[in-house]
Amino acid sequence: MQTIDSPAHILQTIFGYDSFRHNQKEIIDQVLDGKDALVLMPTGGGKSLCYQVPALCLPGVTVVVSPLIALMKDQVDALVLSGVKAAFLNSTQSSSEQAYLSDQLKNNELKLIYVAPERLVGQDKQFLQFLKTIPVSLFAIDEAHCISQWGHDFRPEYRVLGELKGTFPDTPIIALTATADGLTKKDILLQLNLKAPKVFENSFNRPNIFYTVKPKRGHYEELVDYLEAHKNDSGIIYCLSRAATEKLAEDLVEDGFQAAAYHAGLEKNLRDERQDLFLKDEIKIMVATIAFGMGINKSNVRFVIHVDLPKNIEGYYQETGRAGRDGLNSDALLFFGAGDVIKLKSFAQVEGNEEQTKILLKKLDKMVQFCETKRCRRKYLLNYFGETASDNCGSCDVCLGSRTLVDATLIAQKFLSAVARMNEKFGAGYIIDVLRGSNSEKIRAEHKKLTVYGIGKDLSKDEWHHYAKELLYEDYLQQSNGEYPVLQLTEKSKAVLFRAEKAFLNEPAKQVIVKEPIIYQQHAYEKELFENLKKLRNQIAHEENIPAYIIFSDSSLLDLSTYLPLKRSDLPNISGFGAFKIVRYGNAFLEMVQDYCIEQKIATRMDLKGPQKRKPPRIVKEKETDTKKLSYEQYQKGNSIEAIAEARGLSPATIESHLSFYIHQGKLSLDEFVKHPHQELIKKAAEKHGRLSLRILKDNLPDNISYGSIRMVLNSLPAD
Ligand code: ADP
Ligand code: ZN
Repeated sequence: MQTIDSPAHILQTIFGYDSFRHNQKEIIDQVLDGKDALVLMPTGGGKSLCYQVPALCLPGVTVVVSPLIALMKDQVDALVLSGVKAAFLNSTQSSSEQAYLSDQLKNNELKLIYVAPERLVGQDKQFLQFLKTIPVSLFAIDEAHCISQWGHDFRPEYRVLGELKGTFPDTPIIALTATADGLTKKDILLQLNLKAPKVFENSFNRPNIFYTVKPKRGHYEELVDYLEAHKNDSGIIYCLSRAATEKLAEDLVEDGFQAAAYHAGLEKNLRDERQDLFLKDEIKIMVATIAFGMGINKSNVRFVIHVDLPKNIEGYYQETGRAGRDGLNSDALLFFGAGDVIKLKSFAQVEGNEEQTKILLKKLDKMVQFCETKRCRRKYLLNYFGETASDNCGSCDVCLGSRTLVDATLIAQKFLSAVARMNEKFGAGYIIDVLRGSNSEKIRAEHKKLTVYGIGKDLSKDEWHHYAKELLYEDYLQQSNGEYPVLQLTEKSKAVLFRAEKAFLNEPAKQVIVKEPIIYQQHAYEKELFENLKKLRNQIAHEENIPAYIIFSDSSLLDLSTYLPLKRSDLPNISGFGAFKIVRYGNAFLEMVQDYCIEQKIATRMDLKGPQKRKPPRIVKEKETDTKKLSYEQYQKGNSIEAIAEARGLSPATIESHLSFYIHQGKLSLDEFVKHPHQELIKKAAEKHGRLSLRILKDNLPDNISYGSIRMVLNSLPAD
């Protein structure tokens, strides 16, 4: 196929990345060869680039079919910020806006157009017929598993996509999904009528997700500790019931966290608002039922926590998969308690359908096994999905040895006898002080005379607290209710104390594992700078009313705070800094890095980044074309915009954009088209929100200011 630019060049200048990931390159080559492809890649793997890069290499437009409006908007905003001509078509747009888009398509001015499936083939196939009249280079079907009844998310409207191949026999189709078992895979190929397709599979392993399971007992404090240690991060906490999400969100807010609840029972407006605030990092923690997350593209979700047991591995994997799409280390933490198993077992009973009940129970069983396994959790997950894996992944709680059972009989005996000697009337802190022989005045004189006083000096306070929790978890102790809970003995503890039965407990983790982003394994990064860069990004995001991660991903900011670029010419070598974003945001971020380096008296580390191979960015200037000239001449002859549009079979918006070119050249005056006060309002809005998205500006201006006026004013402003 004829191409206009090379994939590697596009990857570097537009997206700002050095190299392709996984098999992106092979996939792109297949598509550029004009052949069909099915891509199976886990979430965060980088599916979008598999069609976005070809879209920019190919001469015509790429039509992207995507099921969710919110997702389309997100993707288009991100592309526009990188300087890519992309748009979406959906029912929320006015007919004049739609007409403008179809003119842009006719003039081959868009590289990507996102549409919902029903839009593509519905309405008497009007749009499909229209597409036949313009140069379509590629069809990309996102979330392709939606076409199959065997998948977990069948959408009947996807079925019509089967007609694409017949209508466009020579246009390649690329289908992409993050979830497809063997049956679904075959079905996608069949339903889409793909021609000699190549299937590209990747491992479903998510190496940057760290899996941990903890006992669900006294877990609120552990949760708070965790969140406290991750105050600057965003994450999702999944609960089983709607009521539980509200209660937990309330508690967390009371404890000073930026949290909110999300579930299907909330009004749509409220849901949308909260989701939006989460995307913008203004709500850090979303406490949600599984209703939340489908179509969330946010790349910097740093943790996913399950405080209730998921129903099956599929759900667990999908939910935890929402963490770490940017490739940075992220946590999947699950609190596991036997009570949840009982509850879920009763939910799994499908009346009158024994077969289904059996399947659900079996799946639940597998989930429980995952929690209880003493072997690598990653291996368990991958095996479940039919992949092989090594025995030790080195990045789950089991592999890092935080769950090695040891013979702790002596330790248990010491602790339990202290509980007994003090008549089961004290809490863990006090008991530990006695065991360690504390001189504090808080310790009563009579306790200082006990034989257990000071027999536990060999262990640290933290180690004793760990064992106290273990004893509780393993039912060697129980805790009373009430305001001042005390520790009491159980049947099991008596066996250890009086019948010398052995007690096996988990050893404390050897050291607290402070996980750093992957890049840290190579070079140290400047933490404070990283946090400040995040703040700068949030501020810009807020001003422009777009999600922060669309501006730059966390990994881009990490790259900045690791390699400390000090010159503008360093920026193209920073991950995610494409030409357009450098023009738009480069200075702000560069200045912050420079100031930091001066203040801290440190030098750049760009030399650690390896040879600099990228060319400096270039921005293409707009040129006069015949079609613009024709509109201009007719306007000069006294024809109105509407009349020219009518006569030329184009939309008024297109004529406006033609004329804007001449305003910019100084040949026409803006005042002829837009009232002066409106001009001022639009200019102010453009300063505040940026000029890249017309929609964002329209949303932030009075209703009586049209898209046309906004476009004209923007076009009249000097270039950035
Ligand atoms: P998916 O759709 O498969 O879930 P995305 O396409 O959203 O994943 O990509 C996840 C993240 O990885 C995005 O932030 C994207 O920009 C980034 N990414 C994709 N490919 C590369 C690459 N080759 N180098 C660096 N980052 C990449
Ligand atoms: Zn492991």
